[in-house]
Amino acid sequence: MTAVLVVGAGPTGLAAASVLGRLGIETTVIERDPDVASEPRAVSIDDEAVRLLQWLGLADDAAPVVRPGTGTRYYGASGRLLAASVTPVPPPFGHPLKNPIDHGAFTRLLLDAAAGQRSVTVRFGHELAGLDDDGGARVRRADGGEERVDARWVLGCDGGRSATRKLLGIDLAGRSLAEPWLIVDACEDPHVERHAMHHGDPARPHVVVPYGSGLCRYEFLLLPGEEEATATSFEFARRLLAAHRPDLRPEHVVRQRVYVFHALLATTWRRGRAFLLGDAAHMMPPFAGQGLNSGLKDAANLAWKLAAVERGELDAGVLDTYELERRPHAAEMIEISVRRGRVVMTTSRTRARARDAAAQVARRIAPLRRRLDTLPVKPPARHRDGLVVPGAPIAGAMLPQPRVVLADGRLAMLDDVLGPWFALLAVEPSRGELRSPAWAAIGARRVRVSLDERFPPTTAVNDATVVIDADGLLREALADCRGQIVVVRPDRFVVGAFAPEAEDDFLRRWHRRGGPAP
Ligand SMILES: Cc1cc2nc3c(=O)[nH]c(=O)nc-3n(C[C@H](O)[C@H](O)[C@H](O)COP(=O)(O)OP(=O)(O)OC[C@H]3O[C@@H](n4cnc5c(N)ncnc54)[C@H](O)[C@@H]3O)c2cc1C
Repeated sequence: MTAVLVVGAGPTGLAAASVLGRLGIETTVIERDPDVASEPRAVSIDDEAVRLLQWLGLADDAAPVVRPGTGTRYYGASGRLLAASVTPVPPPFGHPLKNPIDHGAFTRLLLDAAAGQRSVTVRFGHELAGLDDDGGARVRRADGGEERVDARWVLGCDGGRSATRKLLGIDLAGRSLAEPWLIVDACEDPHVERHAMHHGDPARPHVVVPYGSGLCRYEFLLLPGEEEATATSFEFARRLLAAHRPDLRPEHVVRQRVYVFHALLATTWRRGRAFLLGDAAHMMPPFAGQGLNSGLKDAANLAWKLAAVERGELDAGVLDTYELERRPHAAEMIEISVRRGRVVMTTSRTRARARDAAAQVARRIAPLRRRLDTLPVKPPARHRDGLVVPGAPIAGAMLPQPRVVLADGRLAMLDDVLGPWFALLAVEPSRGELRSPAWAAIGARRVRVSLDERFPPTTAVNDATVVIDADGLLREALADCRGQIVVVRPDRFVVGAFAPEAEDDFLRRWHRRGGPAP
């Protein structure tokens, strides 16, 4: 019996398995194909995804695969800059907003991270064929044989055509977009920009994304009458890329495919012991670059909760907060992606003209220009419901990640100090000590943070590491929490904050929402 069966070794399944493995949970991953997919799909990951890699201890291994980018720029019909999503300085979560990746290399990085954990087994050439009511999964091997895997939990991470979803009888709601797109990945490409470029030319909306090592993604909207057979010919690619890549030769084309994008959400993400994650639960057009990222957020959200249940630290009821927290975000992300596609990628000349004229007027006014240059690509990382104790303004939000000054004067990333599990962040000036054994029961690490401009004391205070916020990111986020304890989850979302004298009340309220027994 394995604790968790992960169906699908795409980025979502492998990220979930890596988190479970790092937390020591027995996990089996089955993948239908003989190896992980190597074809390029996603071309970037966001700041939260890189924060997850940091959590997994992959910061160094990821360096050749995940390049720090700067964001996205949106251009109008005449090629003038309309707007941008640029990483603020310092970056709120410690990493750039958008980071180019090679999808295949990124998936392999996650495979190595998962398979390298003692408690994780990855089996290729094993396809989910059935789910039995008694906890078993029927798995078809590549040699035609069938075997049974017993698991307490099943994570359906098997992509848009998810067999898990079908076996659970869960429907998809939404629609597929009418317009097909041609995707061309080219190598030996001269583009060196660290940002994605969306060109809102109504005659042929297109996207250009350099993603490292001379690789570049080109996406072109196909016009009525342009059939797939023609669009996948080299001559067609040569004509469309001429303005960007006049020297294109057939050997430069790594991949050329026609895609139709979807705006779909599974009607429920859980049935009994089985959950849906990633593309199995939601699919969105790539105009905000959040498809893969959303799957990684699902994995980061659910995997540690499963580990907490398996370790006996939280009740199984906490698992219901997975959908409560992730579904609204995914639904909003689908809307944002569709809307952004409609504005930036319109084929209406009138609408494009109006869009460009409005942007140029706004760009002459400094505060509006600043807003246009810092367009959000995604909804704020904040849960309104779920494993959260409302009250403090920071409750439900992802904790910013500044660099911090340690007692010996070294700089470190905050998350590396918080550790991989729960953390209690006492915001100076501290008032009183905590009494409940609940904190030790969930293994919460204690860190004290000063928002002031002083050096930390050279020894721990009451067993807690003391750090100073070097980048000033916590000063604003925790301004209302001076003298309070901020409870940080393993996925870096904040449960809530409380004054030490309100400890019992806080624990009672948290328990009602899935927290540990007070
Ligand atoms: C052209 C394009 C561009 C994109 N650009 C971006 C981008 O810039 N940023 C971004 O964030 N996202 C982007 N995406 C979306 C992103 O690629 C997907 O959201 C992401 O790959 C989903 O990952 P997943 O692990 O959930 O599913 P998948 O990657 O589809 O993996 C599912 C795995 O499950 C396996 N499987 C299927 N059925 C079974 C079964 N019965 N048993 C066992 N295994 C099974 C499959 O073989 C596969 O390996 C893009 C997508 C496309 C098509």
